[in-house]
Amino acid sequence: MLKINGRTRICGLFGYPVDHSLSPAMHNSAFDYYGMNWAYVPFAVRPEDLSGAVAAVRALGLAGVNVTVPHKRAAAGLVDSLSPAARLSGAVNTIVNSGGELAGHNTDGEGFVRALEEEAGLQATAGPALILGAGGAARAVAVALALSGSPEVIVANRTPERAAELSDLIRKNTGCAASVLNWPGPQERGVDYREWAAVLGRVRLVVQTTPLGMNPREKEAPPFPFELLNGGHVVVDLVYNPPLTGFMGRCLAAGARVFNGMGMLLHQGAAAFELWTGVPAPVEVMRNALMRSLGIRRQEAEDRRQEGVRE
Ligand code: NAP
Repeated sequence: MLKINGRTRICGLFGYPVDHSLSPAMHNSAFDYYGMNWAYVPFAVRPEDLSGAVAAVRALGLAGVNVTVPHKRAAAGLVDSLSPAARLSGAVNTIVNSGGELAGHNTDGEGFVRALEEEAGLQATAGPALILGAGGAARAVAVALALSGSPEVIVANRTPERAAELSDLIRKNTGCAASVLNWPGPQERGVDYREWAAVLGRVRLVVQTTPLGMNPREKEAPPFPFELLNGGHVVVDLVYNPPLTGFMGRCLAAGARVFNGMGMLLHQGAAAFELWTGVPAPVEVMRNALMRSLGIRRQEAEDRRQEGVRE
């Protein structure tokens, strides 16, 4: 049972919107588990108010905050120091306040790497990785894989310039090799997957980082040569709602080992919890809270859909 008093430490979430976030449930369950006098509060911060909100972390003595869409890049310019992952990815998802000094971290990529090890038993060092997409999540994953010792990342993205930009970032700033693979053209012209066959012949890990397949775009999936997958491939789709996308289903049918984005969400939170508190995160407690909240959110969406049908 949460009791707020004069000694309560506050951390929270800056995003816009924040009403669907699963993070408050995850972090408050962890504080509750340890009996810590801490609370995690969501704050809906408009883009024009972000610098004031970050200044308020100092002014109000918050322990720290998570930062989510659309603020991750802007937050990187508002803190006093950046971790290597935050500096390289140009994005901050966690701010730690140490006596008024604000340190910006990016635990998204670290969360991905931790989940990969925990769920798939796969280390970043195990082999080259193919990344589908080149947005913020792809950048966090590519940077974390590179900083964790991945030998090579290959990026395929609808907009080739963004794939090239991410590949250049990795190649020029880390010891990891990086290259670009052409995104498949329109189906009606026929897709030549020969280059993909060569890449999938040597990668162990495929990471799907586009929003295709995410609720409510559940019918969509990126073009992909599923027949080239086999039991040696680990596929991670960063989408977690629904828990099994069409893309994941086809990868599973092809024999690959498949994981959704829930592990990354959980472990980025666990890493942030540890940065703020210095205490090992109670990962199973946080996982249960996430699953419960996601179930409630799905039920609410279904109820709204049913209401719409009745009107
Ligand atoms: P983002 O910065 O907007 O990037 C989106 C990426 O998807 C871009 O590469 C974009 O390609 C591509 N894309 C979008 N629509 C597409 C389409 N119709 N066809 C082909 N490619 C398309 O978004 P983000 O922040 O990286 O987030 C991406 C996904 O990751 C979301 O589903 C988000 O929920 C998920 N995510 C999960 C976690 C987790 O903890 N599990 C954490 C972060 C993000 P272009 O460059 O061509 O536009």
